[in-house]
Amino acid sequence: MAECLFCKFVQREIPTQVVYEDEHAFAFRDINPQAPVHILVIPRVHVANLAEATPEQSALLGHLLWVCAEIARKEGIESSGYRVVLNTNRDAGQSVYHLHFHLLGGRHLTWPPG
Ligand code: 5GP
Ligand code: ZN
Repeated sequence: MAECLFCKFVQREIPTQVVYEDEHAFAFRDINPQAPVHILVIPRVHVANLAEATPEQSALLGHLLWVCAEIARKEGIESSGYRVVLNTNRDAGQSVYHLHFHLLGGRHLTWPPG
């Protein structure tokens, strides 16, 4: 997607604070962190959101979750705890339409979310 900001991060057209990448996944720090650890984990391919994911992408979605767990380990928040959030469409407040898991941790997170 030519005009997608997160695709530009993946393609390294725009610099960002990368924390992890592999063949299928890419992760970077959120520009407006809501917790001491706030990392976005995205697929390298453009998928608008969970609603647009295809059955063929189910393994990719699982891999992205594993990447969240791996980064949480590296960030030292595995035992203290963390939350993975996937906002989808308007009511969830999705603002960037390239699927991204938010990995949040490093402080106590209240429940339910707003
Ligand atoms: P959403 O609201 O779609 O679930 O989350 C989009 C996230 O992308 C927000 O947390 C926002 O702070 C983050 N974001 C938006 N623009 C940029 C940017 O240019 N760089 C980085 N690192 N994060 C961004
Ligand atoms: Zn994209």
